[in-house]
Amino acid sequence: MITAPFELPVERAKVIEKLSAKASAPHGGMMGDPPKEKPDTEKVWKSLGKEEQGTSDGRQATGGEGDRPPLVFYVHVPFCIARCAFCGFYRNQTDDEAMENYTRHLLKEIDRVADEGVFTKRPVDIVYFGGGTPTALTADQLRRLITRLHERFTISPKVEFTIEGRIYNFDDERVRACVDSGANRFSFGVQSFETELRRLLGRRNSREELLERLARIKEICGERAALVADLIYGLPGQTQADWMERNVKTTHLDSALDGVDIYSLKIFPGSPIEKMFDSRGGRWSEEERIRRHAEACDYLVSAGWKQLSTTHFGRNALERNLYNHWAMAGAEMVPFGCGAGGSVGGWSIMQTGDLADYLEKVEKGLKPIGMCMKLPPAASVRTALAGQLGYGWFEPASMPQVDYTPIVKNWASACVWTESEPGRYRLTRLGEYFQPKVLSMLIGYTMANSMSIGDALKMAGQKLMAKIRG
Ligand code: SF4
Repeated sequence: MITAPFELPVERAKVIEKLSAKASAPHGGMMGDPPKEKPDTEKVWKSLGKEEQGTSDGRQATGGEGDRPPLVFYVHVPFCIARCAFCGFYRNQTDDEAMENYTRHLLKEIDRVADEGVFTKRPVDIVYFGGGTPTALTADQLRRLITRLHERFTISPKVEFTIEGRIYNFDDERVRACVDSGANRFSFGVQSFETELRRLLGRRNSREELLERLARIKEICGERAALVADLIYGLPGQTQADWMERNVKTTHLDSALDGVDIYSLKIFPGSPIEKMFDSRGGRWSEEERIRRHAEACDYLVSAGWKQLSTTHFGRNALERNLYNHWAMAGAEMVPFGCGAGGSVGGWSIMQTGDLADYLEKVEKGLKPIGMCMKLPPAASVRTALAGQLGYGWFEPASMPQVDYTPIVKNWASACVWTESEPGRYRLTRLGEYFQPKVLSMLIGYTMANSMSIGDALKMAGQKLMAKIRG
């Protein structure tokens, strides 16, 4: 059994040091190895369509219950009002003409998929408009897009239909256009309720304006839509007290939010925010971040919020957090739009991220795929484990091909998880904080210990042949 690379020390400081180290990608290649020859993307897409047409089973949307993962439509809107200081995803500046042109092309792409009869039989469980800033589209553009999806596909009556974006400029008309045409969840990148920090990040509304606006949107939507926000801790100059008092407690006591996601700041090398730490200081240590994660989680749970994942909380039943979970846990995800990614019928698909290329491909009637690759069978290991760890637990018996005994005991001694009931291990707050790394290590352990000697020899042989050829 291979355990050594996956073992953790017992001493907390050393556990943190090992889990903070950059991932060595033990599951490299899990999402598909680049093909030697570029596949014919149109051919691949059409073959997926044929497979899907035979899969109608009249199943009602389960959002993850039942015997198959949900069907997700992901729609990408790659425009932003301005680049936020911490962001690595900014692509295009908002522009009225460009966004109207983009909307027309998105509608054309939606129609093309629907005309083929692809994914029209199965209920769509989850729709997610991500970006970029989908809320920057006009009310009319949002209405046309949401309505078209409802008209052309079987959107489940239980769908979680999210529009992501910013509070800024998301006026009453836009809010009404979304909920009246069938969206039922708004996910806002709030990041902080502190005015000074918000301005530093490139957010325009003050704390007061933001809270007022959230209250107004809630007034319009009522029970028809969940309001959800992301909050980031460890921002430049942010004190640990302010994180709790002016953000976490504000979420519960003063905001109209139904759900919240709490993230530790990830610093993209070269991003403007990296330089802000030089002038403002306030870099939190890993230990401080772990403690603030724990404190925030404990506070929300004690205030009656339900913990829906290692980082996500819901105040009430309106918030289900289906997209965030299933995007990691093996949903079939059909991509629409420039730069959208998905995973369908055993293929990983990335649509072209170049706007001009996207418009040209759609104009020609093509599905604007930039790259696709066949997922290796081992990808199912990742999604099976991500499905459990995303909810914060692990059940070794669900992966019967591998003996997890040594690692389960070792990680319990390292306080990454505890046996909450026989055969089920729940992540501690430390384990939750490091969930991506814990997942990556568990995948590595599973792969290393489920490979037969025959497979190992074959892989070694292939590597040797590649070396000889190369
Ligand atoms: S709005 Fe979102 S995608 Fe656009 S720059 Fe800001 S964080 Fe990035």
